[in-house]
Amino acid sequence: MAHPAPRRSPTSTRTAGLAGNSLTELFVMARASGAVDLAVGTPGYPATSESLVEDAAEAMRAGRNQYEHPAGVAELRQRIADMLGDGADPDREITVTAGATEALYIALLSTLDPGDEVVLFSPGYEQLAASAALVGARLRYVRLHGPEWRYDPAELAAAFSSRTRAVLLNTPANPTGRVLSREEMEEIAALCERWDATVICDEVYRSFTFDGRRHVSATEIPAFTGRNVVIGSLSKSHAISGWRLGFLRSDAKRSETFRRVHELTTNGTAAPLQAAAASAARSVDLDEVCREMSLRRDLAQEVFSGMGMKFTPVEGGIFLFADISPLTGGRVDCRAFAHDLLDRAGVLLAPGAPFFGDPAQGRDHVRIAFNRRAETLREAERRITA
Ligand code: PMP
Repeated sequence: MAHPAPRRSPTSTRTAGLAGNSLTELFVMARASGAVDLAVGTPGYPATSESLVEDAAEAMRAGRNQYEHPAGVAELRQRIADMLGDGADPDREITVTAGATEALYIALLSTLDPGDEVVLFSPGYEQLAASAALVGARLRYVRLHGPEWRYDPAELAAAFSSRTRAVLLNTPANPTGRVLSREEMEEIAALCERWDATVICDEVYRSFTFDGRRHVSATEIPAFTGRNVVIGSLSKSHAISGWRLGFLRSDAKRSETFRRVHELTTNGTAAPLQAAAASAARSVDLDEVCREMSLRRDLAQEVFSGMGMKFTPVEGGIFLFADISPLTGGRVDCRAFAHDLLDRAGVLLAPGAPFFGDPAQGRDHVRIAFNRRAETLREAERRITA
């Protein structure tokens, strides 16, 4: 007897609007053609510390291969608290997650009910909007205006209302390279207080700020007290993006909920890798990495301004977000430009459109990752100018 085919949609309404990663197609082409890839954020610099790798192998040999505390190996939580330096209690306020990606999802799922509004900036890291949409939140975009990528205070204030449950920040920012100033954070905090909203602040690039600028964490802003969730990651700062180590830092009450959700999603990330990362304080000098990253920023700025792109100097993070219209005269969009550069020069850049709430606003922009070896950036320059 024939079995009837399912009549209902095999997948949920919640997942129906999920787009695939916009970079995948270009990434596959770049790999196949041996291109210099400056599109993805995967670290070329810094190199993974050899002693970190040794420590991971040693942790496995020493038998740390079983379940650990789901909230994270105690030594790593302690090390994260030390790194943050804001008095976080590692036993109650820090949860180790499978990258910032899981941290973000847990924070959103635990904070927002379906239909609640979340305020976020455009352009911004694609996954912020996609994850918020996945938990059923309604997105209220606030435009950042180029070339400095600042918000207009009146536009920001207008985005908040009694429906606002959270604001989603990212500083230093992907893709714009902006670092939010204390004044901007305070302005946002005042709106959160007024409308009783939570701030979810993605600070994965906190160790990369340039030209003497200081990263200002959401935890430093008094008006955010009791309403802040900070997300961090070791992926880029320690060049271990494949280890999937990130974290959530919040008050004990929220953390209790986060830990419950985390137990239901991953129940903890890889134990021996956590144990190794806990020892990274002695093998990774973050100040040195930041100084080196700033030299790579200089090099990338030199190469791409030399090519004719326009941008404001990058304040922090690992990306340069550039206007290509001086090169294209507006005749082709960022995607066509990226395809053409890949074909012509064998250099891959990320089209800017997907970072915008309204992709049409990004047609003249590309994102360039400069967390690369200096030789890689020089090779890109050689190919572009050949
Ligand atoms: N937030 C931002 C702003 C990012 O750029 C990234 C990585 N591209 C992530 C979160 C995710 O990082 P992780 O590897 O820790 O999941």
